[in-house]
Amino acid sequence: MSEVQAQALCGKCKVPVQGPDEPADDSVFACRECGRSDTYANILEEVGNHFRDMAALALNAQMERVARSSKMISVTGFEVQPREYRFISSVEP
Ligand SMILES: [Zn+2]
Repeated sequence: MSEVQAQALCGKCKVPVQGPDEPADDSVFACRECGRSDTYANILEEVGNHFRDMAALALNAQMERVARSSKMISVTGFEVQPREYRFISSVEP
């Protein structure tokens, strides 16, 4: 595999969380700055939430730009409530 792997970062410190090289779902990863930790499965879920919300926000911004240049289009967009993520993706959508 040569594709770039997204890393899970601590949502507060923005540093990669540390864990086993070949993690299982219940492997515990932790932030070495603040000690925030969770299981691999929970971290992946939170990182996925973060990534999905960032993608939705980016899409919303794009749609608003299009709508502003055309009176034919009205935008509803997605409801995204920005919040603090416990863990985030190192890759932005
Ligand atoms: Zn941290």
